[in-house]
Amino acid sequence: MEVNKAKYLISSPSVSKCPTPDRPEYAFIGRSNVGKSSLINLLTNQNALAKVSASPGKTVMINHFLINANAKDEGGWYLVDLPGYGYAKRSKTQREQWKKTMTDYFSKRENLVTVFVLVDSRLSPQAIDLEFLGHLGEIGVPFNIVFTKSDKNSQADTSKNTKTFINKMKEEWEYIPRTFITSTVKKNGRREILAYVQELNDQYKEQGNQLLEQ
Ligand code: GDP
Repeated sequence: MEVNKAKYLISSPSVSKCPTPDRPEYAFIGRSNVGKSSLINLLTNQNALAKVSASPGKTVMINHFLINANAKDEGGWYLVDLPGYGYAKRSKTQREQWKKTMTDYFSKRENLVTVFVLVDSRLSPQAIDLEFLGHLGEIGVPFNIVFTKSDKNSQADTSKNTKTFINKMKEEWEYIPRTFITSTVKKNGRREILAYVQELNDQYKEQGNQLLEQ
């Protein structure tokens, strides 16, 4: 798939304020500074799309972008930039608000097809990422893992780190997600992620919400 059109739509403070769930939706989330804005800009071929909604960690907003819709804004799919976790500056109340808003979003957003969880490929498995994935698993949302910043390490180290992460997950979960290895510097991983979205969009068209009930 190629992204021909991408536009920022709206930032919503809660799932009830999100746009009508009338097309497939893909959410992106990860620890602060993991490379989420860079990846969204790479996927959409735009230099600063994700910056439109960039919020300073404290605000919990669900940011919708409309991808490949027609001139009347019909069709296409939603790309959602979710507020990250692990911001040192968030107070306890703000962290609780983040958790409530995200739990609500993941459990109620009926058109959500899958969540792309971004994980820094340079690090050993981090408790904060595993905890978040555990939370998604409990809610029962399909997810996959996007390892970021792969250009910062040798291929061998990246491969070792990603395997260690998946093995760590296997200790706790039966669900083994699809994985992607990306670098926004080298522009790696874009084609694979967009091909996956295309595959799921096609299934969504055929099966509608049944796809989401699997
Ligand atoms: P966000 O907070 O998750 O949205 O992260 P950003 O996209 O703002 O990226 C955080 C920092 O990591 C920035 O300095 C980016 O330039 C850098 N970064 C993001 N992706 C990559 C990557 O693939 N390779 C390298 N070397 N740096 C990256």
